Amino acid sequence: LSTGEQWTVTAVRYGTLRSTKAELFYRWSVYGDPDGPQSLDYFFYVLRDDSGRTILVDCGFHPDEGARRGRTCLVEPLDALARLGVSPEDVERIIISHLHYDHIGNLHEFPSANLVVPARELSFWTSPAAKHPHFSAHVDADDVNLVVDARSAGRVTEVSGVTNIDPGITVIEVGGHSPGQHMIVVKTASGPRILATDAIHLYEEAARRRPFAVVVDLEEMYKGYEVAEELARGDDNAIVVPGHDPLVAGRFPKLGGDLAEIGVQL
Ligand SMILES: [Zn+2]
Repeated sequence: LSTGEQWTVTAVRYGTLRSTKAELFYRWSVYGDPDGPQSLDYFFYVLRDDSGRTILVDCGFHPDEGARRGRTCLVEPLDALARLGVSPEDVERIIISHLHYDHIGNLHEFPSANLVVPARELSFWTSPAAKHPHFSAHVDADDVNLVVDARSAGRVTEVSGVTNIDPGITVIEVGGHSPGQHMIVVKTASGPRILATDAIHLYEEAARRRPFAVVVDLEEMYKGYEVAEELARGDDNAIVVPGHDPLVAGRFPKLGGDLAEIGVQL
């Protein structure tokens, strides 16, 4: 493959939450299994190619907003980027999986980046329906306004369906968890990495077809698991990466030296 078609993908693990299966899975009682502890980790991804381009997939929650919601910030996302040698001006693009607070809470730090935004997310979160508390609980209105302002400034690329963003990067609309939820497929030297983001929070969700508690369309959520599996089929090196599973940090090589604690190389 020529330059620009392969990326290195770093998963930055910047936050965590202790919770329970009954809290995190949609109607856990249906399965007849006992409740138990279940943690969530919070990730965003740094994509770099060998020509020096840097693209983010999401950018994490704002540390204050995370604290307000009882999430532990392990490393502030901007500090993590600095330790990886990435300054906000280096980021040419942010691919946004969906508009929940823990995915776009630091957008204000990237005033010149192009934002790739699911069209259905933007139309939903600016519609009257988004004001219902089951929806609005998951977004920060300031973040949504920032995306709207960025669109007015010509910095937003709205996408739907299946879209090639750059050579080696494709976004796929699946819905389910949030109206326009996207997955992102990235080519790396070790095979495609299917960043499910919140289409699959936890390995158990897809493996056992047990949807996450936060859902806007249950049927689309189940279909999203199939879409991820279909994308991985036919390439032995393809790996599906769930968006919030603490197991991710143990399944991939840690970053070297003192960066080991902030992330893994997918
Ligand atoms: Zn979400």
